[in-house]
Amino acid sequence: MVGPEKGVWERADLAPDAVCIDCGGKAVVPGFVDPHTHAVFAGTREGELAMKLRGATYLDILSSGGGILRTVRETRPLDVLSLTRELERHLDIMMAYGTTCAEVKSGYGLTTESELDLLKAVRASNHPVERVATFMGPHAVPPEYSGRSEDFLELMTSLLPTIKEQGLADFADIFCEKGVFTPEQSRRFLTAAKDAGLGTKIHSDEIENLGGTVLGAGLGAKSADHLLVSGEKDLLALEASGTVPVLLPATLLTLFEEKIPPVKRMLELGLPIALATDLNPNCMCHSMQFVMALACYRLRMTPHQVLAASTVNAAKAIGLDHRKGRLAPGFDADLLVLKEGSFDHVVYQMGTNHVDTVIIGGRCQLSGVRH
Ligand SMILES: [Zn+2]
Repeated sequence: MVGPEKGVWERADLAPDAVCIDCGGKAVVPGFVDPHTHAVFAGTREGELAMKLRGATYLDILSSGGGILRTVRETRPLDVLSLTRELERHLDIMMAYGTTCAEVKSGYGLTTESELDLLKAVRASNHPVERVATFMGPHAVPPEYSGRSEDFLELMTSLLPTIKEQGLADFADIFCEKGVFTPEQSRRFLTAAKDAGLGTKIHSDEIENLGGTVLGAGLGAKSADHLLVSGEKDLLALEASGTVPVLLPATLLTLFEEKIPPVKRMLELGLPIALATDLNPNCMCHSMQFVMALACYRLRMTPHQVLAASTVNAAKAIGLDHRKGRLAPGFDADLLVLKEGSFDHVVYQMGTNHVDTVIIGGRCQLSGVRH
């Protein structure tokens, strides 16, 4: 229940087992929503950082057996239970840094069985952090389909009705990028996803502007993500459709990318910018607090804008803005007690954990979190 203190005490009998938490002097904010993660995968790729710093290109890493193909190789043999454990391990860290709800994409299986298992793991995971599942079979073309992206896309498209029938995902997503999937392929896949009754999302304008953002907006996608090289017509399309722009500043760091997305223009147009970690083996970032600091210092967003982008707008990007992202009557009681008296500290003092207490669904999940 949210309301003035007096009103809350008057209705205390509604929750006889309620615990009183004194938050005197500390800020209380909505739990952070992370609307773009690839958090279900096996293994880590820490050795690639040194390779990249020595000048190895993406293709060098791939040809040495690394990159996404390594993660696919390590993920495929895992059964649903093992995948569930991997995911829960990531969710534990995310929650300690204040994430109370997260989107999780499949996309490191790239076979019928493995993609379905990844989605089953998202559903089977037993964790206080609420999950929204996204089917992203068209994340990459696996080596056995090299040169045959059409055949692979057809296979992934054929899974959509089953995924919907079994309730395995809420959204479908595709990587629309040069050398991955074309806008035409993206249009066909996302249209089939819509026809199957799933919500849609698109990875667009990350490296090259192929028109993926306009395409996603035209199809009524819930979000378009990355948007590093988006232009005016892309932003106007987002404005017209209500598609949420999701920005991933930690990804820019891991790619040593110095450009930033057109944040200033997005704000001028009043677009509801959302922020996300993009947690994946190439961007091993679990902390929305780190992403928020980057959004201030690199994207030049204000602390207010950053908080909205990580709560109310992030909830909108995954279709949960009717019950997540706000401290308001009727909304889920997902909230954080911070260590300081204002949210500004979260972005001002970088690299430490500002969350003291995590409450999800009205239940205290963590308290007295250390730095
Ligand atoms: Zn992604």
